[in-house]
Amino acid sequence: MTPQGLRLGQVRATVDALVKSARTRDRAGFERLISDRDPSFPNRARLLYDNLSTLPLTRLQMHVEPTQFGLATARTQLLGSGAWAQRAVVTWRLAGDDADVEHQIWLTFLSDGGELRLGGTVDEPPNRSVEPKPSWWLGRLTAGEHEGVTVIAGSGQPLERWANHAAAALDNVRDNLPDGLRLSWSGHIVMEVPATPRDFESVLGERPGSYDSIAAVTRRAGTADGATRIVVNPKAAQLSSSALQAVLEHEMVHVATSSPDSPAPVWAEEGLAEWVSTKAHAGQPSEATDDVLTRVRAQGAPRSFPSDQEFQIGERDLRMAYAEAWLVCRYIADRYSEIQLGRFYAELDDGHSLDEASQSALNISEAELIIRWRAYLVRLARASVVAPR
Ligand SMILES: [Zn+2]
Repeated sequence: MTPQGLRLGQVRATVDALVKSARTRDRAGFERLISDRDPSFPNRARLLYDNLSTLPLTRLQMHVEPTQFGLATARTQLLGSGAWAQRAVVTWRLAGDDADVEHQIWLTFLSDGGELRLGGTVDEPPNRSVEPKPSWWLGRLTAGEHEGVTVIAGSGQPLERWANHAAAALDNVRDNLPDGLRLSWSGHIVMEVPATPRDFESVLGERPGSYDSIAAVTRRAGTADGATRIVVNPKAAQLSSSALQAVLEHEMVHVATSSPDSPAPVWAEEGLAEWVSTKAHAGQPSEATDDVLTRVRAQGAPRSFPSDQEFQIGERDLRMAYAEAWLVCRYIADRYSEIQLGRFYAELDDGHSLDEASQSALNISEAELIIRWRAYLVRLARASVVAPR
């Protein structure tokens, strides 16, 4: 065996022992493998141990890869010239996740007292691209599982309050999803509430500030399209209780319908999510409905349903695209029926075209659906208000 191969084998044995100690709550065993040559590291290691030993994990594995690099000068001075950083892929799964989640991390090793020990977690190769980070890597977490919802909350986030909101939202979603959808959903929700807006973006792997105005996101977690999770911007806590709940309901519809994997057009996914969440709060129109109707009065009804592009983060009329999408679903549910809305969505979700979905669920062509929807918008704009349901 080459010296490199021998060292990789030792690193893997050390990492396996660290993971095992965390999973079996053997704190002393974990701490024996930690170096204090960087005096700030034992605290950091304690945080990782606390998170990994208390999260409701059903899987935790770390696979150390051969990729490694030498440290920056200041770190070499602190840790010694024999220290190096090595890439590992973490695979983890929370109770309620519908798949494993993978993340890449960098671990720093050194030989300390004749033993290979973990010496740090802050060394990263230069020019590393922005990638999603596991929430347990970013700071101290608390976690809870209750009635079909798993919540992990960052430091300072009131776990109980988030869990209560989520449980109430889940009840509403179960009650208000239209019949006719064909769901493969387990009924379980996994939700992460990072400690800060910055951590929210780190979990998503997005650049600082780019998701500032976004209340919550549903996507496949990690670097390899893992479990479908809801990630909430902690700033959403400033919303009123009912607005916050509507945000969570909207996201839960995305989980229930696996919309990150769906071939349905984005307006259909967003419109359905808005329709379910507004239905649960009677009389509550989608946020920018008044703006849409004002524009209809000034410029006439839009010629088509909103394009996928109009839902990109940073688009100027993003909120109006949501309201237009909601108005399509509202039109179908009111003019036809909820079950036909469900069937219409199921057709799109099966990969059928808009024309095929319209014919099959509503008995009209795509062109006719758009004509009728436009006439509906004009009527609403004249009436000036969207009447409470
Ligand atoms: Zn959405």
